[in-house]
Amino acid sequence: MLHSSDVDGVSPVGGRRALVTGAASGIGRAIASHLCTRGARVVISDLPGERLHEVATALPQAVVIEADLSVADEVHQLANEAADVDILVNNAGLQHVSRVEAFPDEQWQRLLDVMLTAPFLLTKDLIPHMYERGWGRIVNVASVHGLVASPFKAAYVAAKHGLLGLTKTVALEAAERASNVTVHAICPSYVRTPLVENQVDAQARTSMVDPSAVIDKVLLSRNAIKRLIEPQEVAEAVEFLCSDIAWSMTGTALTMDAGWLAH
Ligand code: NAD
Repeated sequence: MLHSSDVDGVSPVGGRRALVTGAASGIGRAIASHLCTRGARVVISDLPGERLHEVATALPQAVVIEADLSVADEVHQLANEAADVDILVNNAGLQHVSRVEAFPDEQWQRLLDVMLTAPFLLTKDLIPHMYERGWGRIVNVASVHGLVASPFKAAYVAAKHGLLGLTKTVALEAAERASNVTVHAICPSYVRTPLVENQVDAQARTSMVDPSAVIDKVLLSRNAIKRLIEPQEVAEAVEFLCSDIAWSMTGTALTMDAGWLAH
C-alpha cells in the first residue's frame, strides 16, 4: 500500500481529527490504534463496557465517547460531541445469521440501525463542518457483502448494499461542495476479528467440526487467496484513503476480497 508518507515523509492523517465507531474491537480498534500511531487525534466510540475501557487504557491519547448507535439520539449526541472531526470512520457492525422466514424483526432493525442509519446520521451531522473546513474523509467499512450476497445474512447484506448506495450518493454531493471532501467504502472479505471468530465457533458447534475446518471450507471457500485478512491491513487502507493521492477514489468501493469477486 502506497502512503502519501512515501511521497513527503508525513502521514496524511498527522494532525487530523478522526472519529472511529465500533473502536472497542476488531477492525475499529486496529483503525483507531493505527490512526493514533500515525499522529491523528482520535475519538473512539463504542457501546459502554469493559472492551471500550481496555482500548481507552491502551490508547490514552484518544478521547472516548460511549454511544449505542442503534439509538438515534445517542448518534446525534456523538456527532455533537465530535463535531470537529476531519475523518469519520463508520465501522461499528454486527451480524445475525438466520433464514429470512425466521429472521427476528428486532434483529433486522438493529443491524439496519447500526450499519446504515447511524452512518447516515453521522454523515448528515458531520459533513457540513467538513465543507466549512474544506477537507474531509468519510470511510464506510462495508464488506464484500455490500457487493454480493450470501444466504442467511439478509439484514447484513441489505445494510451493506445500502451503505454502498449512501457512499456513492454522498460522494457526488460532496464533490459539488468541496473537492477535498471524499467518501469511500472498504469492502473486505473475512477479517480475523471477534465478529468472524464467533461465527466460526457457532458453525463448528453446529456442524461438529474443528473451527479451522470452518475457516478453510466455508469462510475461505470463495477467496482466491486462502487467507483471512488482518485488521491492521484494513487500517492501512483507511490511512491510504485519507491521503491526497487517493483524491480520485471518491464514491468507490475498495475491495479487499482476496479475489472473491474475480470469479
Ligand atoms: P467486531 O465485532 O470485532 O467489532 C464491531 C464493533 O461494533 C464492536 O466493538 C461492537 O461493540 C460495535 N457495535 C456493535 N453494535 C453497536 C452499537 N449498537 N453501538 C455502538 N457500537 C456497536 O467486528 P469487526 O469484524 O471488527 O467488524 C467491524 C466492521 O467491519 C463491521 O461493520 C463489519 O460489518 C465489517 N466487516 C467485517 C468483516 C470481518 O470479516 N470481520 C468483513 C467485512 C466487513
